[in-house]
Amino acid sequence: MSASTITRLVIVGGGTAGWMAAAFLSSLFPARQLTLTVVESAEIGIVGVGEATIPPIQVFNKAVGIDEAEFLRATEGTYKLGIEFVDWLRPGHRYMHPFGQPGQPINGASFHAWWLRLKAEGYPHPLSDFWLSEVLARKNRFDFPSSDPRTPKSTLSYAYHFDAGLYGQFLRRIAESRGVRRIEATVGAVALDGTDGTVSHLDLTDGRRVEGDFFIDCTGFRGLLIGDALGREYEDWSHYLPANRAVAVPSERVAPPVPYTTATARTAGWQWRINLRHRTGNGYVYVDDLISDDEAAGTLLANLDGAPLADPRFLRFTTGRRRQARHKNVLAVGLSSGFLEPLESTSIHFIQHALMKFAATFPLAKDDPVSTGIYNRIMAEELEQVRDFLIFHYHANDRVGEPLWDRVRTMPIPDSLAEKMALFRARGFAIFPNQTLFQEPNWLAVLLGQGVEPRGYDPLTDVAPLQEVRSGFDAMRRTIQQVAEGCRPHEAFLGDASATPLRGRA
Ligand SMILES: Cc1cc2nc3c(=O)[nH]c(=O)nc-3n(C[C@H](O)[C@H](O)[C@H](O)COP(=O)(O)OP(=O)(O)OC[C@H]3O[C@@H](n4cnc5c(N)ncnc54)[C@H](O)[C@@H]3O)c2cc1C
Repeated sequence: MSASTITRLVIVGGGTAGWMAAAFLSSLFPARQLTLTVVESAEIGIVGVGEATIPPIQVFNKAVGIDEAEFLRATEGTYKLGIEFVDWLRPGHRYMHPFGQPGQPINGASFHAWWLRLKAEGYPHPLSDFWLSEVLARKNRFDFPSSDPRTPKSTLSYAYHFDAGLYGQFLRRIAESRGVRRIEATVGAVALDGTDGTVSHLDLTDGRRVEGDFFIDCTGFRGLLIGDALGREYEDWSHYLPANRAVAVPSERVAPPVPYTTATARTAGWQWRINLRHRTGNGYVYVDDLISDDEAAGTLLANLDGAPLADPRFLRFTTGRRRQARHKNVLAVGLSSGFLEPLESTSIHFIQHALMKFAATFPLAKDDPVSTGIYNRIMAEELEQVRDFLIFHYHANDRVGEPLWDRVRTMPIPDSLAEKMALFRARGFAIFPNQTLFQEPNWLAVLLGQGVEPRGYDPLTDVAPLQEVRSGFDAMRRTIQQVAEGCRPHEAFLGDASATPLRGRA
C-alpha cells in the first residue's frame, strides 16, 4: 500500500458486513500498519438473514484465507449451483438460473448462438440440457469445476448457502485472531471535526469515546454515520423494485439438501427456500400494500416443507442505494449503502465488492476526494447493472390479472434494460456494455427463462453445415448426461467434509 495517513480504522456494526470488513482488512493489512476496531451493539442486534450467495464469494473467502471444508462445517453450509424460479413467468412454469455457462464459445460465436440456430431449424432440446450446473442441480448431484477445458466440468461454477449468523461468528474468530479489537457498546453520537466535516470520534452510550482516522459504517439500514451524521441521501428504487417487507422462518429439513435456491412467485411477491445442513431457511418477500403481515405469514407457513422451528420474523426495507456510499472519511458497507432485494443473492456480494474496491482505492488521507469519487462511480455502475437484472425478473411476466404482476409488467423500465431486451429479442445477443457481475450466461438463462424468444441468431453460425452442428450438439448432450451420472450426490459432499475430493478442482 502507498503511504497513507490512515492507521486507525473503526468499523461500526457487527453484522455480516462488519465482520466481513474486519476479517478482510485484517488479512490485507498487518496490525502494525492498520489497527482495526469493531464496535457492535448487542442491544440493537443484526438482520440475521442472508443465506444464499453467488460464486465470487469464493474469491473473498480465499483472500481471507478460509478453508472451505472448515467454513462449511462452521456455518452449516451447502453448495449452490443456481436458483430455480417457480411460477415467475406464469403459474406452473419453472426455469433455472444456473451458475457457470452452457458451453464454451465455438469458432468465435457464443455457444447459445449455435443452439439458437439449431432451434430455428426445429432442434427439440432445451439449452438447459447443455448446462451442466443445471443438469447436476436437477439430479441433486454436485462436483467441482475442472481446469481442463476439454471436460464439461470446466463449465461449472458454484457458491454456498449458509447460516448468516454463523458466518459472522466464524469471521469474527478469524478477525480477532488477527488482532482486531471488539468493543461491545452502542454508539450514541457521531462527532464531526468542526474544520473539515470528517468524523472525528464516536461517543458510546456507556460514556467511552472511540477515535479513528477512517470509519466503516456497517450499521445496517440505519446508516448511522453515512446517513444520520454525514447526510448522504438514500435514493429510493421502490418504483422499480416494489417489495418492502419480508417475513422469515426456519423449518425442519425433511429431505436431502438440494444444491440450489428456490424462488417461488406469489401473489404479492415471492418466497425463498434455502436448504442448509441443519435446517431450511424460508421467507416471503412482499409488497405491504397488497397483503397484510398476517396473510403473508400465513402463506409462508402454509408453504413450508417441514415444521417451523421458530416464530415468523418480520423485516422492513426500502430498495435503493446511498447516492454516495463513500464520503469524507466514511465508507458505507452492507445495508447502510443500499439494498436491492434478495432475489439474486447479491447483498453479500456487494459487501465483498465494496471491500475489495475500497482496498484497491485505499484513502491516502482522511478526506481523499480522488479515490472517493472513483470508488463511488464504480459502485454506482455495478448497482445499476444488477438493478436492471432484478427488475427484468419482475417485469417479464405473463401473470395477467394479478395486481402486483400487472403493475410491474406495465411499469416504465430503465432505458438501459429496454435496450438489452430489444437486442436479445432481435438477435439473441446477450453481451451488454459494462457487464461485470452478471454476464452473458446469467442474462441468457433469465431472458430465456422469462420467455423472451429471440427472432434471430449470430450469422457467424451459418458458416458451418447444419447437420454437422446438430450431430456435435447431440454428442455433447450425451456426454453431459454421462458426466452428470458419474457425479456424486450433493449430500455426499457435506457429510464428511474431509472426504471432499480435491482432484480436478480449478
Ligand atoms: C429479507 C432479506 C433477505 C436477505 N437474503 C439475502 C441473501 O439470501 N443473500 C445475501 O447476500 N443477502 C441477503 N440479504 C442481505 C443481508 O442480510 C445483508 O446484506 C447482510 O446481513 C449485511 O447486513 P449488515 O451487516 O449491513 O446489517 P445488520 O445485520 O443490520 O448489522 C448492523 C450492525 O450494526 C450494529 N449497530 C447498529 N446501530 C448501532 C449503534 N448505534 N451502535 C453500535 N452498533 C450499531 C448492530 O448491532 C449490528 O451489529 C437479505 C436481506 C433481507 C432483508
